[in-house]
Amino acid sequence: MDRRNASRGPMTTAIHAGEKPDETTGASAPPIHMSSTFVSEDVSGFSAYDIREDSPYAYARWANPTTDMLEQKIAALQGSEACLCTASGMAAATAIFLTFLSAGDHVLVSDVSYAGVAELARDTLPRLGIDASFVNMSDLDAVAAEIRPNTKLVHTETPVNPICRLTDLSAVAKLAHAAGALLSCDATFVSPIGMDSTALGVDLVMHSITKYIGGHGDAVGGAVAGRADLIRQMRVEAGIHHGGVISPFNAWLIARGAATLPLRVKAHAQGAQAVAEWLETHPAVNRVIYPGLPSHPQHELAQRQMTNAAGMLSFQVGDAETGRRIAQQMIDRLEVIHYAVSLGHHRSLIFWMETEGLMDTSFRLTGAAAEDYRRFAGDGIFRLSVGLEDADDLIADLDRAL
Ligand SMILES: *Cc1c(COP(=O)(O)O)cnc(C)c1O
Repeated sequence: MDRRNASRGPMTTAIHAGEKPDETTGASAPPIHMSSTFVSEDVSGFSAYDIREDSPYAYARWANPTTDMLEQKIAALQGSEACLCTASGMAAATAIFLTFLSAGDHVLVSDVSYAGVAELARDTLPRLGIDASFVNMSDLDAVAAEIRPNTKLVHTETPVNPICRLTDLSAVAKLAHAAGALLSCDATFVSPIGMDSTALGVDLVMHSITKYIGGHGDAVGGAVAGRADLIRQMRVEAGIHHGGVISPFNAWLIARGAATLPLRVKAHAQGAQAVAEWLETHPAVNRVIYPGLPSHPQHELAQRQMTNAAGMLSFQVGDAETGRRIAQQMIDRLEVIHYAVSLGHHRSLIFWMETEGLMDTSFRLTGAAAEDYRRFAGDGIFRLSVGLEDADDLIADLDRAL
């Protein structure tokens, strides 16, 4: 964390943290340093284990000034000591798993999560001898029952993609910490604005910065924020050794987006609230799930844990056949909203996610877990990322397609 700025508000932090006028030119906007290597003034080693906090720049896989700027900005926004930026959100998730887990360890993962994380945890980790098990993290008894003597990490996601179910982070942090495990949370759906994951006890806050933090749909990246010693371990293992570092150009684009994050997230939430309330009244819509609606099954937790629900909502329209038909109508009729995956951009994005297909490929839930998923998603949901357009235009667009 940029401690000089610790007392500043989030809007000032988003703009100024990590940045300063260029020392040689006085440029107010930060430069892009694309250099992959840096001229050395000392004879020094070339091992990841040689890096110290005050090491000069040596090679861009270790550190780069433009990437540093973004890392300091995200750490400050998240109220964390440090941050590691990665090539993508998936590289951030992989960085957490492969830095803090070894063969013989157990990791407890939310039974619903971003599909890539779900598949990585179910297929890749067991291949490496890491035992992964999956629970509904809104059920604290289930979390407590699944923690084992060799549990090293609990990985959750809130609001969870794609059903916007919530995890009580401070309660899960207590359970994880009592067992000596770290808690990581994928907070992509809410961004650092709107939920203080660090204060709630999360050790490693992960974001796909492709989404809200970048905010403009033009750069892929990831970030993990946390204590300096944990981030340093990740920098050595995941950054320098596994090599999934972000391009300085993407870091610069994402930092430019991050400067307006607090303003944008406020506008996303306002738009999403209006669209969600309208969808609740539409006869073709069976159910709307948005943490900002009093009808969200965990609305009380949302109010306690989140100060802003951002722009992600999901809604059901009936059985899978109806959903597929309406998805096709959306592809044919939407004029403003893009029918596309991804989220958190200024452009609104919508995508149909059928339950049966997701169960076969990513989540593979059975019994009570599958039933709970269906309580939120039915036979399928539309995942809508409400962008920054006028809410009336989004509502008119949805009305054309429903
Ligand atoms: C998009 C996303 C990811 C993966 O991020 P990429 O930048 O696409 O690799 C991980 N978690 C969540 C919740 C996401 O929405």
